[in-house]
Amino acid sequence: MPKKRKRKRISRSNVSFLNEYSYEIKVGFLFVLGVFLLVEKLEIKHYIYTFVRGTLFLIGDMIQSLAGGMEFIIGTFEASDIVGIGLILISVFLVSKRWRERTIDRNSNLNDCPKCGGDFKRIHRTQYQRIQSLFWRVKIKHYECKDCSRTYMQMGENRK
Ligand SMILES: [Zn+2]
Repeated sequence: MPKKRKRKRISRSNVSFLNEYSYEIKVGFLFVLGVFLLVEKLEIKHYIYTFVRGTLFLIGDMIQSLAGGMEFIIGTFEASDIVGIGLILISVFLVSKRWRERTIDRNSNLNDCPKCGGDFKRIHRTQYQRIQSLFWRVKIKHYECKDCSRTYMQMGENRK
């Protein structure tokens, strides 16, 4: 394995770590709050019991009528559950949006090989990169260094 030589970075203290990830920490707090709202009142046994019972009832109801089943599902959620689920979904969305921006930021300024300064040639994207570009709606280019054969990914906004 070739010895990895990383570009020198300003050494990071705990403070700058907190600064960089303060957004994630805040959103993480939202996430935990959402989970807490969902589980605070529920004892696990009771939850499992309700779930099994609910499932059986649900199957019965769905056989009877789909509308009846839907009503049952809606009836089993309380307002705080819906708020909790909402907060979880929002925090997942916010974090993935931030990750997207950060990944674009880190991968958008490649002109030549950072390791050896060699020129790039375009190569086929991997399956994973294709999925990434669909999922995040970004433009991904895959490069290989002509000199040392290292590969790099360039990511940019998908705007036209
Ligand atoms: Zn290179």
